[in-house]
Amino acid sequence: MSATANPTPAHRPVPIRQTQLFIGGQWTPARSGRSFATVNPATEERIADVAEGDAADVDAAVRAAREAFETGPWSRMDARQRGRLMDRLCDLIEAEIDELAALESLDNGKPFADSRTIDIPLAIECLRYYAGWADKIQGATIPINGNYFCYTRREPVGVVGQVIPWNFPILMIAWKWGPALAAGCTIVMKPAEQTPLSCLRLARLAQKAGIPDGVINVVPGYGPTAGAAIVKHPGIDKIAFTGSGETARIIMRQASETLKRLSFELGGKSPNIVFADADLDAAVAGAHLGIHLNQGQCCCAGSRLFVEDSIHDAVVERVVELSRKRRVGDPFHPDTEQGPQIDKAQFDKIMSYIEAGKREGANCATGGKRHGTKGFFIEPTVFTGVADSMSIAREEIFGPVLSVLRFSDTDELIRRANATDFGLAAAVWTRDVARAHDVARRLRAGTVWVNCYDVFDAAAPFGGFKQSGFGRELGERGLDAYLETKTVTLSLSPPGQA
Ligand code: NAP
Ligand code: MG
Repeated sequence: MSATANPTPAHRPVPIRQTQLFIGGQWTPARSGRSFATVNPATEERIADVAEGDAADVDAAVRAAREAFETGPWSRMDARQRGRLMDRLCDLIEAEIDELAALESLDNGKPFADSRTIDIPLAIECLRYYAGWADKIQGATIPINGNYFCYTRREPVGVVGQVIPWNFPILMIAWKWGPALAAGCTIVMKPAEQTPLSCLRLARLAQKAGIPDGVINVVPGYGPTAGAAIVKHPGIDKIAFTGSGETARIIMRQASETLKRLSFELGGKSPNIVFADADLDAAVAGAHLGIHLNQGQCCCAGSRLFVEDSIHDAVVERVVELSRKRRVGDPFHPDTEQGPQIDKAQFDKIMSYIEAGKREGANCATGGKRHGTKGFFIEPTVFTGVADSMSIAREEIFGPVLSVLRFSDTDELIRRANATDFGLAAAVWTRDVARAHDVARRLRAGTVWVNCYDVFDAAAPFGGFKQSGFGRELGERGLDAYLETKTVTLSLSPPGQA
């Protein structure tokens, strides 16, 4: 790892155009008059003050969303037209991609190049993919017994509350808005307190695209206030949440009062498995990016690297070397590969895991320290000699910290890889086709990559087994969370003969 530049002055002029709540198509201050600061994690400096929504604002947003759903133009709009508006939103995002990428990197700290070439292009793909679904959501005719005509309709679930995290703000917005809008739902979204800016900007673009007022409402604020108000509000039919299991448990309890539909995308401790017959160049690159992409702040990070005995040392040497060379610093420097962690709380949490790893007897082969003196930068870190029982092998760290584990026997490997409460993703590297499919079948995870890592496509469903969540996002399955199935049964008997 080497610094590109002084990591502190992470700046390029980015206009901050929206800082208020977006409710019913209007920009409004919080009813309480309060606001909160959003901070640049590369400099620890305040970027802007953003209106802090709470229960009263959420209530107004739900009323606007309810009206748009029940009686507004959205409820009467042709499905194909909904798709066209979504496409128009994508055109506007494309036209502003540089500004949006800068805003995202300023607020989140991720390298500008990542925002510009990964996050936003994937978000556009996702929205365009679901724009295409808008007029293709169909029911079925069902041959039931008797003289009846029976069919199903797939109808929007209603007003949806969407609560998202800070790690991929724009991408998470696309994953949430895409299927909801295609299905015909209306939205009350709460972005993470750390990253509200790009969400407000996208709301503005949605309005410019012609998406009717009240269809998308954005209420920035804190989880226990604005977030909880969304979860409890009787006018909301469904909650889609991405974030931590801890928060998901609270949401589940609170949503039980109104029996809301829930879909959760939570954390992981994903096994990334390298067999001795793998293409080692590809596997090493996949191990490196599998953990370090997005500063390690990925729910699907390959944080447990299982390496077969006979190649263990060679793989470790190369993975450590790549981590050492990773360029950490100013997110706006063109050479930067890794920016800061999102905030002080995450920085402290990650550092405490690093300390725990050392204390529990793992070998810190590289990294393990803060990078620089300002901003929440952490050196890319690799632990070797990790035992399955150590906290760094069991718990989600959500930072650039890799745990390397050895294996020799495949059955034993599968048992260890599955010995976790999580089940979001996994990867296997091998040239043996039969083994690839066998291991893919036996791993308890929602996504298994073979000879690749972090390959996402809007058409391919993503989500967790076990405590990594329920429901799927992306692909056709991603629509399910936003649709109700209605069965209509009609008697075909002539009058008087029913
Ligand atoms: P978090 O608390 O789960 O936050 C995710 C979202 O939920 C944020 O918008 C948050 O609001 C909101 N929230 C918090 N408490 C809530 C409540 N009682 N009711 C409704 N919404 C609530 O996650 P975090 O604190 O940012 O990160 C902690 C850990 O979560 C990480 O270390 C990582 O392990 C995991 N995580 C996972 C993912 C993922 O993609 N699966 C993403 C982020 C974090 P605020 O604006 O107040 O934060
Ligand atoms: Mg911020």
